[in-house]
Amino acid sequence: MKNLSPRQQKILNLLTQKGDLTIAEIRQLTGISQATAYREVQTLAQAGIAQKTPGGLSLLPAIAGLCLHCHRLVNSRLVFYLEQPDGERRAACCAHCGLLALNHLPNTQQATTTDFLYGSFLNAAHAWYVLQSTVAPCCQPSVLAFGQKTDAERFATGFGGQVCDFTTAQKQIALLMSLHQTEHHEKSSTNNSPHTP
Ligand SMILES: [Zn+2]
Ligand SMILES: [Zn+2]
Repeated sequence: MKNLSPRQQKILNLLTQKGDLTIAEIRQLTGISQATAYREVQTLAQAGIAQKTPGGLSLLPAIAGLCLHCHRLVNSRLVFYLEQPDGERRAACCAHCGLLALNHLPNTQQATTTDFLYGSFLNAAHAWYVLQSTVAPCCQPSVLAFGQKTDAERFATGFGGQVCDFTTAQKQIALLMSLHQTEHHEKSSTNNSPHTP
């Protein structure tokens, strides 16, 4: 998938939240001219990311826009939805981002994810997750969702990984990401020399 400009990302972010956008809304968001707004709509439609409507842009039925957590394009096969109290449906690219995003959206009414084997929608709270298997179609460490525990276990037997229920998966992925961050940003936050007493 081609790279999006920051402006196109911005448009898609809002599109993901609202489902559709008018030219006026795009102009308001980005401060661009009418002609440029039409050109961006054209570009996004041609790239197959969104579809053109008479007055602007709407999401493709199969694509849920950009992930609310990592901002990559949402793959309809892995999508994880978080229903908000105001009725807004936010989409994460996969269960990895969905579970992490739940920590920041504690008011989520319901979370829905996709069965990795069958493509059917699942209540995320009742799904089973395989963490860190060798199959990583989206974010790392990989998190794949399954409706049946036996499917998750069989999958992990073949492709590795740890089978977790919803609560454990949510905790584990947060932990794995914080470890990952300390590994990669050793020098981070507090002033200097955390090791010298
Ligand atoms: Zn994501
Ligand atoms: Zn992802």
